[in-house]
Amino acid sequence: MKVENVVNSQKVIYNILKQAKVNNRLSHAYLFYGEAGTGKKEMAMALACMLYCEHGGCFKCDTCRTILDGNHMNVDYIGMEANKTKISKDQIMDLQEEFSKTSLVEGTRVYIVDGIDTASTQAQNSLLKFIEDPANTTPTIGIFLATELSNVVSTIQSRCVLLHFEAIEQKNMIDILIDQGIDDLDARLISCLTNDPDSAEEISQNENYQAIKGMFLELVDVKNKSEAVKYYLENAMYFSIPGVGTDNLTMLLKWVLAFFSDANKDKKADTDLILSPLYDKIKVYKSNSRALMTEKLEMVLFLFKELKSNVSPKNVFFELMEKFI
Ligand SMILES: [Zn+2]
Repeated sequence: MKVENVVNSQKVIYNILKQAKVNNRLSHAYLFYGEAGTGKKEMAMALACMLYCEHGGCFKCDTCRTILDGNHMNVDYIGMEANKTKISKDQIMDLQEEFSKTSLVEGTRVYIVDGIDTASTQAQNSLLKFIEDPANTTPTIGIFLATELSNVVSTIQSRCVLLHFEAIEQKNMIDILIDQGIDDLDARLISCLTNDPDSAEEISQNENYQAIKGMFLELVDVKNKSEAVKYYLENAMYFSIPGVGTDNLTMLLKWVLAFFSDANKDKKADTDLILSPLYDKIKVYKSNSRALMTEKLEMVLFLFKELKSNVSPKNVFFELMEKFI
């Protein structure tokens, strides 16, 4: 994710940090926590830029670029190594060793530990003294990133300022995906499937995604009961294999839910809709009574429940086609 996009979509947190910087009240330790894709790493980098950039963090100048590219002398980042699922004790030891040496560059030193929640309790505990006294007199800011707050030892939590990263709002998510070069309709469809902009590219290239997307675009064109039957017969094969069939139908139902929710919105303009490129199709359903549309939304929610309780995806798909029109 681009750091600019994170700064925009996590404004509250950015402003807290900016304000603290302006007032000279930055903490010596932060713990950023929240799901993957909420921009924790990018925000940590943004904070480092704030400290060094002469424009207060422009993300464009040479200094900012050096930080964002991971090449700044005073900004140390440790994250998961390739094919590993945890931060190791060795990585944490190396970091402390590094900080025991005097930096060649003046100014605050920053270290970022991405995935502190994956480190063993012992490895986490080895950081306690370091957080308070990073082995030299240079001002230091530690930023810990975690997905699971409950896996961070309480003694680290109590030494940090905790900032919770909420999932990025769907509207922002759509803008970010478009900015990443994903086309408008795909950006909107993918925003219904994930909160993590970094997974979007992979989803858009997935074969099943392409197939179910094609299906969905035909579904919103189905005009009457006999077309619905024909549509069912032509597409039931996508839902006949357990597992994949359930994934496929979950995807389809998420889009149907967004479609009916859009049709149920009061707004006359199409710009506020999630699936605005399908406005012509949504309009057709908008003429239905509010009661009927509520019924349709409830129907989709019920089908999600059925899928969860292991009703065969093919049967659930049949029910969808019985009630879609
Ligand atoms: Zn800059």
